Amino acid sequence: MKTMKVSIVTPNGPAYEGETDFVSTKATSGELGILPGHISTVAPLATAPVKVKTQAGTDYVAVSGGFIEIRPEAVTILAQSAELSNEIDIERAVEAKKRAEQRIQEHRPEIDIKRAEYALRRAINRLEVAKHR
Ligand code: ATP
Repeated sequence: MKTMKVSIVTPNGPAYEGETDFVSTKATSGELGILPGHISTVAPLATAPVKVKTQAGTDYVAVSGGFIEIRPEAVTILAQSAELSNEIDIERAVEAKKRAEQRIQEHRPEIDIKRAEYALRRAINRLEVAKHR
């Protein structure tokens, strides 16, 4: 079976390396399903789970923002942050979600709503990925 290399890199260094025959995630333009041999392209990513099919099962990674570079034999993701499902601090994500929801609800003029919405999306993404431990 044909496979391709997957690497996820953040400013803190490599976050994930693997070999796969299918990767799925979400770009800002919509869902992406990537098989080996895909045409080369670069796309901005949404804050969404990256699912990497491996021989052992499926790895889930919470990726926040960034870009995906697809080549026929490799997928590279450069993101601001990335955590594997078992690296996620659930308590921290729950607190971050509460904080963001409160900020959005309070809607005080000095609060940057867009920033709170991004924080909420990061927290929801982490909690979603943490379900797959
Ligand atoms: P918080 O408000 O809890 O800091 P955040 O969404 O603002 O959340 P980020 O700025 O996205 O955090 O990430 C900062 C760093 O902390 C990154 O290295 C990220 O991987 C890590 N991180 C953030 N939240 C978690 C979490 N729940 N579990 C594990 N690592 C996390």
